Amino acid sequence: MIELQFETIRRELAEALAGLDPQMLPPSDAADRVAVLSAIEKLAAGGRLVLLARAAQDQRWRNCGELSAGDHLARQAGTSPAAVNEAVKASEQLTGLDATRAAVTGGRLSPQQAAAIASAASKDRAAEAELLRAAECESLSGLRDRCSRVQAAATDQAEREKVQQRNRSFNSWSGRDGSLCGRFSLPAVAGAELLAIFQPFRDQAFLRARREGRHEAYANYAADGFMDLARAADQQRSSHLRPSSPTNRPQSTQPTGTADAPPVSPSRPKARIQVRCDYFALRRGHTQPGEIAEIPGVGPISINTVRDLFDDAIIDILVSKGRDVTTIATNTRYIPQPLRLALAERDQVCFIAGCNRRHRLEHDHQELFSHTHDTSFDNLHRACAHHHDLKTNHGYQFIHTPDGWKCLPGHQPSTEPLQFTIADTGPDP
Ligand SMILES: [Zn+2]
Repeated sequence: MIELQFETIRRELAEALAGLDPQMLPPSDAADRVAVLSAIEKLAAGGRLVLLARAAQDQRWRNCGELSAGDHLARQAGTSPAAVNEAVKASEQLTGLDATRAAVTGGRLSPQQAAAIASAASKDRAAEAELLRAAECESLSGLRDRCSRVQAAATDQAEREKVQQRNRSFNSWSGRDGSLCGRFSLPAVAGAELLAIFQPFRDQAFLRARREGRHEAYANYAADGFMDLARAADQQRSSHLRPSSPTNRPQSTQPTGTADAPPVSPSRPKARIQVRCDYFALRRGHTQPGEIAEIPGVGPISINTVRDLFDDAIIDILVSKGRDVTTIATNTRYIPQPLRLALAERDQVCFIAGCNRRHRLEHDHQELFSHTHDTSFDNLHRACAHHHDLKTNHGYQFIHTPDGWKCLPGHQPSTEPLQFTIADTGPDP
């Protein structure tokens, strides 16, 4: 009976479309019909998504000489097996998510919205209602970010990162107009590194366009920057392969790069990566529900990964702790300007109790920078040159007492190698 109903709808729709001549319609009529067809498309896609997991169990594909149910369904829909398999997974995840399923079959969610919600809510049922509300007002990318956070909070981060590593991919194909198209998937940290390396090339392409008086979409400049990056990498590789001769440029003094692209130095530069993370989570070593550790524009990561990044990249951590002044921290020794201002406001004179010197104050990392990689509001003080010198060169320590900070003769903690003491407690830039 239902099958007959679906077939009737399909036939009537096909008949209505058969006599369609866009040129005979006023634009307003055409726009009205587009709106109705969009609603039908959404309904049909939603119905398809709900049924797909069940349909994939049908074994008749074996009679058609196909490789799998996914291949069979992909051929039927004129899409790729990978896209079908993704949709089948989303369809499976809808099981038990009654509210989401009702929104899908009611035409209130697109298949993309439904897939994002199903993936997150299947891990955390309690989040389903909130995600459905978010879908009503947020963009698809905003909804995906939100779903990604729910999923991260509900799954083991280490496991999640393993899955990202297993699923990494790079695919390219020829587009309809003959251009090269692509799609890739990288673990969050590798993705952040790629974006950080890519950014100067993209910015350079934008500036070049401005110089030439060109105004195009940002994605166009990004494509130019991407090619510049590839060419720079190729030049770099070629210069390493070339046998050295007097006519060749010495590699160590001549970084390569295209005329406009930033040069690529022979040693791999550290990428600059931004991380948003909760202060207490960073201190504790893991996140609790409601806390964030993520790379903006890429996705959630574990606190362990944040700490691993200290060795591999320059990271700017935006820490949230309810006070603006603590929102800037970095794992380099460089102190960002807003943090300098916040420190100058707090330590208007030398922070050692009773000192009151207010000129030539120097920044001091309370915990050795080499141990903590912590350039933050809480780990920095402004001390006068005299007190800073006592700590740096004469074995004194800054100790917090009930009467405030004191500069007292002390011993070096046994865990700290002496060479670090000298190298890492000098005046900050
Ligand atoms: Zn002082």
